[in-house]
Amino acid sequence: MSDCLFCKIVAKEVPAEVVYETDRALAFRDINPQAPTHVLVIPKEHHADAAALARADQGLADEVLLAAHAVAEQEGVADGGYRVVFNTGLGAGQTVFHVHAHVLGGRALTWPPG
Ligand code: C5P
Repeated sequence: MSDCLFCKIVAKEVPAEVVYETDRALAFRDINPQAPTHVLVIPKEHHADAAALARADQGLADEVLLAAHAVAEQEGVADGGYRVVFNTGLGAGQTVFHVHAHVLGGRALTWPPG
């Protein structure tokens, strides 16, 4: 989508600190990190949110999840515990409508989230 910020990151029209990449997924550091590790994992193909992705392409949804867990390992937060969050819809705080998994770790994570 031409007006999608994360599609522009995939196209390298907008800079991002990429930390992990596969043929169909990309992971880059969040510009406003909420934890020592805060990485966003996206499919390169545009899907608006997690539900749309899962309905359209379950294999790609799997790849995004696997990439999220690979990022946690690579960042060294897998053993200590980490969180994978898909904000889905305006009411949940989704602001960018290109599906993205937040991978958060490196500090104690409280529950319930705010
Ligand atoms: O779940 P939500 O849609 O609110 O998350 C969007 C995330 O994208 C935010 O955490 C924001 O900091 C991040 N962002 C980014 N790079 C941009 C614009 C937004 O990492 N250029």
